Amino acid sequence: MAKEPSWWLDDAFESETNAAPCPPLEGDARADICIVGGGYTGLWTALRLKELEPSLDILLIEAKYCGYGASGRNGGVLLDWATKFAILAQYCGTQEAVRLHRLARDNVAEIETFCAGNGIDCELRRDGWLWTSNNAAQDDVWRPTLDLLDKAGEHPFVEMGTAEAQARAGSPVVRGAVFEPGVGTLQPAKLARGLRRVALTKGVRIHEGTRMTRLERGSPPRVHTPNGIITAKRVILGLNAWAAEMPRFRRTILPLASDQLMTARIPELLAKIGMRDGMFFSDSRLLVFGGRTTKDGRLNFSKGGGDFVFRGQVGAVWDEPARREREVTDLLHKVYPALRGVKLEGSWRGPVTRTPTGLPFFGAFEDCPDILYGHGYCGNGVGPSRIGGRILASLALERKDEWSSIPLAQGQPDKRFPPEPFRYVGAYMVRGAVVRKEAAEDAGRKPNPVDTLLAGFAPTSLVPVNTE
Ligand SMILES: Cc1cc2nc3c(=O)[nH]c(=O)nc-3n(C[C@H](O)[C@H](O)[C@H](O)COP(=O)(O)OP(=O)(O)OC[C@H]3O[C@@H](n4cnc5c(N)ncnc54)[C@H](O)[C@@H]3O)c2cc1C
Repeated sequence: MAKEPSWWLDDAFESETNAAPCPPLEGDARADICIVGGGYTGLWTALRLKELEPSLDILLIEAKYCGYGASGRNGGVLLDWATKFAILAQYCGTQEAVRLHRLARDNVAEIETFCAGNGIDCELRRDGWLWTSNNAAQDDVWRPTLDLLDKAGEHPFVEMGTAEAQARAGSPVVRGAVFEPGVGTLQPAKLARGLRRVALTKGVRIHEGTRMTRLERGSPPRVHTPNGIITAKRVILGLNAWAAEMPRFRRTILPLASDQLMTARIPELLAKIGMRDGMFFSDSRLLVFGGRTTKDGRLNFSKGGGDFVFRGQVGAVWDEPARREREVTDLLHKVYPALRGVKLEGSWRGPVTRTPTGLPFFGAFEDCPDILYGHGYCGNGVGPSRIGGRILASLALERKDEWSSIPLAQGQPDKRFPPEPFRYVGAYMVRGAVVRKEAAEDAGRKPNPVDTLLAGFAPTSLVPVNTE
């Protein structure tokens, strides 16, 4: 089982030779821009800033090490925003949704080009995504999204019949599917560690093991750490789920755990059931499950919708093996009966974020515009966090461009989650109802109407498929 919080991180560290050390900050420091958080958001932001203004002095601090958070634990599914098209259209209008959809699609190819050009071997394979139905309630669930995309002149998905979809997924539980080519999968921790390496070569100063203990609003803002204070013209927070620990984000960020499993190497078995490439396969339920292979022939299987934390206090509570390991393993066996008896070599959890809109958001503190933030990718951040980095860099440099003008860059959404303790209690009530509703649907029964009603309160981000 994993030494670090995920199998991916163990694997990445094993192949990371001669990594430059990034020792904790000792003493006070100054910088043009201080970035807090060494995940994809923080690292892509640092890289974009350096691309726009190479002379900027950027200091990035990370509480543990780069990739420790969701960026080193996720399913490595590299998507665009095709499934978010409906909510994007609702939030920004159809024309802007089309622009964002294309931008997110191009972003996938650009990540591939960036990795190839910078020697980041994160095992990226653009073999597509199979969005499947696994019970009658899920049949054709993609239709409204496809219709909306069609009407806007966008056609990212190809429809598939049952036999072809089953063969492609390698699973008999599949009833039908749509396939999106061009997207893909990667080794997430290798991407995070690769971005760290490239950021260092571009001159970004990184201090790992350096937690922000207090954020002092002011002009300039100051970031307190255990052994020094950083004064910077701008501070950028790339904290993801940990942002929910700050009272100001408590009602717009809902962190929840997601569970992941990794099998032993079984390349022959995977090839036999038809899983020959780096395609991602998911079902269509709110508490989505999904599977993908690794380049060395394992299956990484995931199940969303784990537990919540009271008042957003994420800390290190999800740095442990998957709590639902047994349940998720049973599900894996149901989806892939041929894999019964295959050994597991990893089981872990990590913090996913939900927002009231189902979309990430970016902005500046209203009471201190020199402090910026960006988070809330709702289980789809591997690709979009690079867009986040572009938005944050443009905001930090006060550039009026295609990135800073994105409607998602206008700060926290007006829509809010309820205050505590209602949020915590309510989240469990809604999740319980979703679990019961989906179990009834799996069994071909009509769900209890109360469960259906309560399940309707799940944040809209759960409706379009996410990849956690
Ligand atoms: C289990 C799981 C599966 C997922 N699967 C997918 C997927 O397949 N595809 C997809 O697109 N998305 C997926 N996601 C979502 C995706 O991983 C995230 O959206 C993305 O990694 C967010 O990057 P980030 O940099 O914003 O956050 P993170 O990677 O979480 O980085 C935040 C960093 O901030 C640091 N930090 C926190 N507090 C402090 C502090 N006080 N001082 C200094 N540093 C601090 C943390 O240590 C952490 O490293 C998944 C997420 C999880 C958890």
